[in-house]
Amino acid sequence: MTLAIQLDEQQVTLESPARLLTVLAQHKRRLVHPPLFEELSWIDNPRCPLINLVEVDGQVVPIAVWADRLVRDGMVIRTRSEQLEAVLQERLTHLRDHQECQFIRQLQEFVAAEAESRGLIELEKRAEWRFEPRMSPPSLLHDPNSCVRCRACVDTCNDIQGVGALSFDEKQGVLFDDAKCTRCGQCILSCPVGFRKMPGFGADIFGCDPCPFSRPLGAMREIDDTPKVWKALKDREKYVVVQFAPAVRATLGEEFGMEPGALVTGKLYAGLRRLGFKQVWDTNFSADLTIMEEGHELLDRLKQGGKLPQFTSCSPGWIRYCEIFYPDLIPNLSTAKSPQQMLGAVAKTHAAEKLGIDPRRMYVVSIMPCTAKKIEAAREEMDSSYSYWREKGRVKQEERFQDVDVVLTSREAAKLLKMGKIDLAAMPEEQPDPLLSQYTGAAPIFGRTGGVMEAALRTAYEVVAGKPLEQLEFESLGTMEGVKVASVSVDGIEVKVAVAHGLANARKVCESVRQGGEFSQYHFIEFMACDGGCIGGGGQLIPTNTMVRKARTGGVNRDDCEHPLRKSHLNPEVQQLYAEFLNEPLGHLSHHLLHTAYVDRSRQTQSSAGSAE
Ligand code: SF4
Ligand code: SF4
Repeated sequence: MTLAIQLDEQQVTLESPARLLTVLAQHKRRLVHPPLFEELSWIDNPRCPLINLVEVDGQVVPIAVWADRLVRDGMVIRTRSEQLEAVLQERLTHLRDHQECQFIRQLQEFVAAEAESRGLIELEKRAEWRFEPRMSPPSLLHDPNSCVRCRACVDTCNDIQGVGALSFDEKQGVLFDDAKCTRCGQCILSCPVGFRKMPGFGADIFGCDPCPFSRPLGAMREIDDTPKVWKALKDREKYVVVQFAPAVRATLGEEFGMEPGALVTGKLYAGLRRLGFKQVWDTNFSADLTIMEEGHELLDRLKQGGKLPQFTSCSPGWIRYCEIFYPDLIPNLSTAKSPQQMLGAVAKTHAAEKLGIDPRRMYVVSIMPCTAKKIEAAREEMDSSYSYWREKGRVKQEERFQDVDVVLTSREAAKLLKMGKIDLAAMPEEQPDPLLSQYTGAAPIFGRTGGVMEAALRTAYEVVAGKPLEQLEFESLGTMEGVKVASVSVDGIEVKVAVAHGLANARKVCESVRQGGEFSQYHFIEFMACDGGCIGGGGQLIPTNTMVRKARTGGVNRDDCEHPLRKSHLNPEVQQLYAEFLNEPLGHLSHHLLHTAYVDRSRQTQSSAGSAE
């Protein structure tokens, strides 16, 4: 049976029925439409149903869906047409401007259908919503139009974190109280819309996994900074360097088919280098540096009768929480900056000088498990490297720059790697670049609850006692209990320490300190805004659940145990930094570059300080 069809302007006769894809291949039709925009050049999946389109009898359809259909007698098939070009243009423009794939969004709509069946929304009404996005800058964005009004985010913020920054309005949906929001990002982890890998019937069939847009956007999500970093990497004027946090190495492999907790440190060095970063550094280095400063600060407070208990300061969600709800406890906060900010400050001073790079050209990108790190990097006072050079008369006032230029979450980092067509799982194991990268086993455990405390005790004990601490792990501090306690004898003083993770647990401890209760008698307390610490951070890959948290914790613990050096003060590059540049912990330059001050933000909120219920 012969068939006559029209293929573009050509009349084609087929001797027998054939598949659409076979016909296109036999007549050498290109299957992937070239992207219209340079910044979308990574889209080259031949099965991509978003851009790989064909017009059949006047209807635009994805080739991947129609590939196996048999052509009919009289069929008109077009691989180029005004209609096709218009659809392609519209889809790619949406992709570029909204960083969202409409095909993936449609697949995700089963969540909305489920919400309708539970009586949460009416799909017909939802289709008419035209709300503006709501922001908690520079970290979070809520898209009311894709929200299914399940209120999981509101419950997380109010009940699990005990912050109360989200509320629900029957007409408008979820509302932010920006002044109360700590930017912890835990609400993102609870949102059922987005970031999850699409079920097998969807994206997997079309080979979407390596595509940067293969994860649907959440209704609650971070403000996406990947386009900024992509642009910076293409900018020849910029010298773009990168650091990544302790917890990221035990997480990022999940997006590339590896088990939660699999360590990808060496692969990540390799992948980031191939993306074009000029220096691949490691926040583990500055975690050791933080211990040097924070540990000495504790010893100083113990000796000089300073404000106790000393609170850790590396979790920016916790810092903001303290500033908003417990400003009276600000004097308890360690003045040591977080590892992210310490690395930014020494990168644009010491490292820039050693490498002969103009600090104004250096562009520091951080990969963090955390959405609050975005607001931390943007804090006005986080420009110590600028003021260092300004004092030397090497930069002008109008050339002010931040120590860290942009922060990506783990989710955004996975997207960036995919934009660069990097399959992390297939990367070789490489080494980082020297100067700001070496680390000891004390650094990776910053990524889990109790780790900062444990790392600090290892160094503080040895500095004071002058002999090694026999027991390096404090088992009671490494568990998932919300509040944990331990004590260690340091030079005759019984140092009482506590650890709290999750902001509702932080509140219990803060109330006790404020009211002169049990915890006011402690010497050192570690606070982390997120459940499990950074391995459960609001910027981590989704799902982040109890099992996944435990597996990631196992990963950072392995990194610690397998390390030949396990105490921060033994880090050779940290020792070199003090010898060549900083001089000594808590010294003049350290104070200028590595320490900071905090702000009472209670007046910015509607409610009075301490009403975090
Ligand atoms: S980021 Fe944290 S504090 Fe802010 S709304 Fe979400 S859960 Fe609440
Ligand atoms: S933002 Fe997400 S978690 Fe919050 S109500 Fe909407 S769908 Fe639910």
